[in-house]
Amino acid sequence: MKSPAKWDAIIVGARCAGAATAIHLARQGAKVLLLDRATFPSDTLSTHFLWPRGASYLNRLGIMEQVLLVTPSAQQVFFARDGVSFFAKTPLEDVKARLERVHGDSSGAVDLHISVRRIVLDKMLIDSAIALGVEFRSGVVVENVIWQNNRVVGVEARHGDSSFQERGRFIVGADGRHSRLAEWVGSPASDHREEATFAYWSYFSGMPLENGVMEKRGRLAVVIVPTNFNANMTLLFGPKEWFPHFRKDHTENYYRAIGFINPELEQQLRAAYQEERFYGLNDQSAFKRKPAGPGWLLIGDAACIKDQCTAIGMTHAFRDAELAAAAILKGLSDDETLAGAEFAQQREADLSSYYNFVCRSAGMAKATEEDMSFLRGIRSHSRFANAFGSMYGDSLPVDDFLALRREILSHAPSGEERPSDSGLSVFQDNGGSPHAPVSIDSIHHT
Ligand SMILES: Cc1cc2nc3c(=O)[nH]c(=O)nc-3n(C[C@H](O)[C@H](O)[C@H](O)COP(=O)(O)OP(=O)(O)OC[C@H]3O[C@@H](n4cnc5c(N)ncnc54)[C@H](O)[C@@H]3O)c2cc1C
Repeated sequence: MKSPAKWDAIIVGARCAGAATAIHLARQGAKVLLLDRATFPSDTLSTHFLWPRGASYLNRLGIMEQVLLVTPSAQQVFFARDGVSFFAKTPLEDVKARLERVHGDSSGAVDLHISVRRIVLDKMLIDSAIALGVEFRSGVVVENVIWQNNRVVGVEARHGDSSFQERGRFIVGADGRHSRLAEWVGSPASDHREEATFAYWSYFSGMPLENGVMEKRGRLAVVIVPTNFNANMTLLFGPKEWFPHFRKDHTENYYRAIGFINPELEQQLRAAYQEERFYGLNDQSAFKRKPAGPGWLLIGDAACIKDQCTAIGMTHAFRDAELAAAAILKGLSDDETLAGAEFAQQREADLSSYYNFVCRSAGMAKATEEDMSFLRGIRSHSRFANAFGSMYGDSLPVDDFLALRREILSHAPSGEERPSDSGLSVFQDNGGSPHAPVSIDSIHHT
């Protein structure tokens, strides 16, 4: 014990990254204070799809049964691009192998795809943490960190009109993409990537669907996944530089763009019942931050932002939670500098190839002739299709999938499918009236 701290860990931010870390720590008997300025249940900006690796983390957190009671799940997803389509499952062995490689333990692996809304999931995580003895305080704004001998030793916070301080052995920033903790500890953003999408989505009922659908055409994509409350989350996205065209008439352009990708889907959506308003945002350019220093760790979006286009942020937040909890537990009984350095190294080793993959994908480049051959090759064999799905959800490492490229191309039959045009004309042909875009802050309940 190096300082008289009341808490083993103080965690700022109580959603995927923060509440999950609290659960892992509390299970091992650590004294944890979990703080969030939000109150719960509350929503946050996300389209909340979990690939099998992400679903496995829910299982490892002990909340899978609860989630499945209210949330649909499926063992496969449907992919289509410019007319080439296939179903993909993630082999359970891939999930197990990845969990073993990253955490040294493959327990809880499942092969399910789940789309659980954050208003549902984040409350379940917090309730589990509380049941394990974590002290949770909502409506608390953390306003700074406390330094002592060049080490972060606590936080200054405010609840309503009253300010308070708390001291802990580790201060964890799980405070999202605009992390103030990162500022206070001096961890600036680095490895910026410009590629990013605009995203626009809502929830529709009256459109039964058994599994997620991910279709791309040109530089546009649509994702539809069954979620809570008998609705489907229905997301359109495209390159961020098209947002000015899209926003001129965002509602009509939403339907028109989906019609460009798949006319049948557009018709189904126009006939379905829209349960909620549209949500949207533009530009989620990626960056990383140094995730550990003396007395502090950054996890989840606070440590790395990636575009939403591959739906991986929650999975990575859960990964960080496990790695951070292990590092903190080690640091409590051993050398904490070494534990922090190991955490940073393990995270980066797991992240770097996928980071490149998601940033490339976020450019939403048109398919090339070679891409079309590759897709036909993937479609030619379920082993390739499953490897593709597994890689997309970050179970099979990207590099292992790329190692299959030559083999997949050698199996590619010739075909009629050709790269589509980009799809920009969808918006240019629609001279609708300008509307204000939906702002990210307008649905942040914090
Ligand atoms: C449009 C969009 C779609 C997405 N779709 C998917 C998807 O399909 N699948 C997927 O896996 N990921 C998706 N993501 C990413 C995913 O939502 C994030 O990666 C995930 O929410 C990160 O969780 P987190 O706990 O790190 O941060 P957050 O969820 O951002 O939580 C941070 C918390 O910190 C609190 N906080 C912040 N500052 C303070 C402070 N000073 N004091 C107290 N509390 C504070 C906030 O109130 C908040 O509750 C999407 C993201 C976007 C933007």
